[in-house]
Amino acid sequence: MTDDVRPSAEEAGMTDVKDDVCIVGGGPAGLALALLLLRSGVGVVVVERSRSLERSYRGEILQPGGLAVLGELGVLPGVLDRGAHELSGFRLLADGRVLMSIDYNRLPPPYNHLLSVPQQHVLGELLALCEGYERFSYLPGYRIRELLTEGSQVTGVVAGGPEGGYRVAARCVVGADGRYSRTRTLAGIDAGRIDAFDQDVLWFKLLAPDRLTGRVQIHRAAGGAVIVHDSYPGRLQIGWTLPHRGYQAIAERGLEHVKQRLRTALPRYADLIDEQVTSLHDLTLLDVFAGCADEWARDGLVLIGDAAHTHGPLGAQGINLALQDAALLHPLLINALRTGDLSAGALGEFARVRRPDVDRVVKTQLMQSRGMLTRNPVADAIRPVATTLIGRTPIGKKITQRIAFGNPAIRVHSELFVSD
Ligand SMILES: Cc1cc2nc3c(=O)[nH]c(=O)nc-3n(C[C@H](O)[C@H](O)[C@H](O)COP(=O)(O)OP(=O)(O)OC[C@H]3O[C@@H](n4cnc5c(N)ncnc54)[C@H](O)[C@@H]3O)c2cc1C
Repeated sequence: MTDDVRPSAEEAGMTDVKDDVCIVGGGPAGLALALLLLRSGVGVVVVERSRSLERSYRGEILQPGGLAVLGELGVLPGVLDRGAHELSGFRLLADGRVLMSIDYNRLPPPYNHLLSVPQQHVLGELLALCEGYERFSYLPGYRIRELLTEGSQVTGVVAGGPEGGYRVAARCVVGADGRYSRTRTLAGIDAGRIDAFDQDVLWFKLLAPDRLTGRVQIHRAAGGAVIVHDSYPGRLQIGWTLPHRGYQAIAERGLEHVKQRLRTALPRYADLIDEQVTSLHDLTLLDVFAGCADEWARDGLVLIGDAAHTHGPLGAQGINLALQDAALLHPLLINALRTGDLSAGALGEFARVRRPDVDRVVKTQLMQSRGMLTRNPVADAIRPVATTLIGRTPIGKKITQRIAFGNPAIRVHSELFVSD
């Protein structure tokens, strides 16, 4: 952090901007929070590193809990108009046999399915609604460079881009800049990385309009599981899980070897892999980690979404949690702005309320990872019992509800909205 004794913005070739809240990161967490605050009469500046809404290999699967937040915000119809595929749940397969199924049609409508939707459709819709408010400033193409402070209080950010920069003064800064959050680093907060998954995921997409799955399918294969789900429009998004740092040795043996490994792991899509994977550049490697930052709040600063807590892709929880974080922080932040208490103590209420939900998700993901992917006689014997339990009993319905909604008590506080 830097103390605020410095040349004026003009002298430094920067533009000064000032409003109530500065949100760093225009992802699902940042833009959902921006819209909630704008609707409540709060002025918002969003600093976003990217100039476009394209976010390749981000979360595409929305859980019912996230859908409910978007539905209550009135964003969902527009998102659906832009295009999405509905999915009926999760299925674990080995050698073409179904080992375990989690069906969302057991849940109460209307949010009784998953939605596979390009993140840009969600972000585009949120942004379009934010842009309808006079007190919204969007700074695409600018990265946070510094946190401004007065004593211990964070008072804004410096954001830089190819065409100069902005000095944004705000009563509160929200770090919503994702799993490698620069805001978090600048505040000196540790990411709390948990390497419990010990896996990397190799992602790619195949055009397959006639072979969509209608579900998230997890194929157990020799050498790692493969996640397959429909990706709008008419594609399959495929994630091949590999031992952490294991891809390098495979890639060094060349494209044909990698394709052979993929065909063996996913024989039903061997023809598509053959035709469409033409270069190692068609494949994107992402390291999978979970993490939970030590602190989520400082005086004048709060972290949400992946910046505060990061999750592995299994069980598709990240966007859900990010959208629910925004819904949960909204009333707390409105109250803090009204009372003028933007201390770490007041903003830290968010962490106190939210951490137990996040811990539960991490535990459930670890359980899912062990239950679905572990290969040993005990796990193999328990799995059919677990399938029956999840598929047919009230406890199973409760587990499905937990995975689908996270904390079901989280809702949008529309009573705080002011008329436009
Ligand atoms: C390959 C992959 C697959 C996934 N699949 C799923 C899934 O199916 N379902 C699911 O729910 N979750 C999934 N996730 C997780 C999900 O994408 C994230 O949890 C979710 O996007 C978090 O939202 P967020 O707004 O907190 O962060 P992000 O979506 O990461 O948004 C952060 C924003 O901050 C911006 N930013 C970053 N650095 C800076 C900076 N220095 N200055 C300014 N702006 C900055 C970024 O450009 C971005 O727009 C997946 C993640 C990965 C990597």
